[in-house]
This record gives sequence, C-alpha cells and structure tokens, in this order.
Amino acid sequence: STVPLGGSVIPIVNKLQDIFAQLGSQSTIELPQVAVVGSQSSGKSSVLEALVGRDFLPRGNDICTRRPLVLQLLQTKTDEEYGEFLHLPGKRFYDFSEIRREIQVQTDKEAGGNKGVSDKQIRLKIFSPHVLDITLVDLPGITKVPVGEQPVDIEARIRTMIMSYIKQPSCLILAVTAANSDLANSDALQIAGIADPDGYRTIGVITKLDIMDRGTDARNLLLGKVIPLRLGYVGVVNRSQEDITLNRSIKDALVAEEKFFRSRPVYNGLVDRCGVPQLAKKLNQILVQHIKAILPGLKSRISSALVSVAKEHASYGEITESKACMIYYPVAGQGALLLNILSKYSDAFSSMVEG
Ligand code: GDP
Ligand code: MG
Repeated sequence: STVPLGGSVIPIVNKLQDIFAQLGSQSTIELPQVAVVGSQSSGKSSVLEALVGRDFLPRGNDICTRRPLVLQLLQTKTDEEYGEFLHLPGKRFYDFSEIRREIQVQTDKEAGGNKGVSDKQIRLKIFSPHVLDITLVDLPGITKVPVGEQPVDIEARIRTMIMSYIKQPSCLILAVTAANSDLANSDALQIAGIADPDGYRTIGVITKLDIMDRGTDARNLLLGKVIPLRLGYVGVVNRSQEDITLNRSIKDALVAEEKFFRSRPVYNGLVDRCGVPQLAKKLNQILVQHIKAILPGLKSRISSALVSVAKEHASYGEITESKACMIYYPVAGQGALLLNILSKYSDAFSSMVEG
C-alpha cells in the first residue's frame, strides 16, 4: 500500500536517524506531533486515515471519536504492517478493521456506550515500512449541545482537552472545516487561532468539497480570501458515509478525489491546494523545514562532544602517543565524519526547501 504522508522525507529522516543512532539516544530527531481539530463530523478522522493510507479509525456522521487517539507511526525495516495498543502489549493487529473495533471497544469502556467523552488517551502504534516516525493525534470534535450521557459543560470540556494538545509549541495543527459550513463560524480556525495566534503551525483543511451547495465552490476559501492563514489551505474530498457503508477503499477514494478536481475548471489553477496528496506534501515540506531548523543545534551538540573528547585527551598527557591515538582518534574521527555528513544534509535541505 502507498502512504502519502512521509514520501520524500522518509529517506532523509532515515539517514539522519541512522547517523544519530550512533551518537546515543539524546540525538534522535524529534518530529513534531500533528493534531486534527474541528467541529464534530467535519472529517477529521477521515483526513488522518487518508494521510496514513489505511482504514482503521471509527468514522461516521455521529460522534465517533470520543477519546483522544495518539497514533504513533513507527518505521520498520521488514514488510510487516501491524498495530499494537499500549493497553494490549505484545498483541499485534494485522487486520486493520480489528484495530477499529478495538478502538470502539476501548471508547465504550472508558467513555460509556452513550456518546460520552473521555480525555483518557488511547495509544496505538502502527508499524510499517511505509511511514516515517511521527505521531498523529485524532481528537473528539467540538460540539455545543449535550447529547446522550454528555455532561452539560461538554463543549468546555472538549475545548480544554483539545487545547492541552495544540497549545504545545511543537504541535502542528490541521484545522479541519467542512466546505458546506461557514468558514467564519469555523470551530477549527477559532481554537487553532487561540493556540497559534500567528499561524506558524496551523494548516487549514477544507473537507467535503463534493457536497457544497449547488452553484458554490471553495475557490476563494482555498485562496485564503475569506480568512487568510499563513500556511494556507488544502481542499480535500474524503469518502462519504455511503462510501464507508459500501467499504470503498482509500485507494479508490484517492482516485475519485483526483478525478473530482480534474473535472472542475474552477479548481484548475489551484493544484497545489487540492487533494490529500497535496496535504501530505505540505506536511512534508513543514517537516523538512523543521529538520532544517534543528540541524544547527544538532551540529553544535556534536561539536561540543568533540571538544570534551579533546579536553579529555589533553589530560592524558603522560599516556604514550600510540595509546592516546587509540583513545582519541576513533571517537574524533567519527564525530568529524558526522559533522561532515550533517553539513551536507543542511545544504541538501536548503536546496530542497528553496528550490
Ligand atoms: P470527524 O467527526 O471530524 O472525525 O469526521 P469523520 O471523519 O468521522 O467524518 C464524518 C462524516 O463525514 C463521515 O460520514 C464521513 O464519511 C463524511 N465525510 C468526511 N469527509 C467527507 C468528504 O470530503 N466528502 C463527503 N461527501 N463526506 C465526507
Ligand atoms: Mg473523528
């Protein structure tokens, strides 16, 4: 299966991880978390699934996501693809529809069977050769009117829960709004604007472009003419409830999405803002920027490690030359090599990002 998220970033991140593995655990690359926010049923879970390229999240036109799902993608070197829950250590789920069932069971267990919401996380790891090591967070949507077992202050509770994730400065926010609702009333943009007022880590995602009111389109939304957003917007077409009922695959949905945009002249000049693959591309670009930004820090960490090795060497004054060489050079040689490789990577990143 193909996973749109990760794409060209995977080889670079892999190389860097390999290099840093030699330096010890402190120096691995920490990629930012990505969280989805928005109103209930705006399509948040659908967007995450499309990005991962696998079917495994509860979705539907009712409240489905009722506990935060922290989804850690982990790259494996084998061909195996499976999920493992924190609460079921050692149990490998190779069937992704079973993952969905387990999420539903755990949701009911903690949040009750009648629409209740809990801030207790479900933690799921997905092991796959096609992903990069990144954490995605699926969150309950914002709702206003309590239903079922929900407490009267359901809206405030959900908002607090969402904020606890997206206020983290390293969290990328996918602010999801359905195209058939009013952007000026968007819960997603409203809460993202509180967490990230300057918009440095918020990407606007407009879903349901296929079911807009007849005679309207999302062109001005995507161009940022309605509500500007520093990192801009991407419009997507996910599977409808009918597609889900008919078990339509993500792969087919991506083909249908592409056809949708191709057949509508109004989106012609906007290819870079249309479709899940473009959203993945945008995320990848942001990840590259992030890696580029942390490279200097990593370089200086290696440099200072080299300095302390050199100092240690100086204090071994009396040790014979040949012994000192054995202590010093293997380490220094490796450090210098890493610095060299890192410099090359920063150049490569600069040209990738600028070019
Ligand atoms: P969430 O509550 O924000 O996580 O939303 P879901 O991902 O569960 O989606 C809610 C409902 O909207 C589901 O029935 C989806 O099939 C449907 N849906 C999501 N995105 C789209 C879209 O782009 N087009 C159409 N037609 N339906 C969508
Ligand atoms: Mg959901």
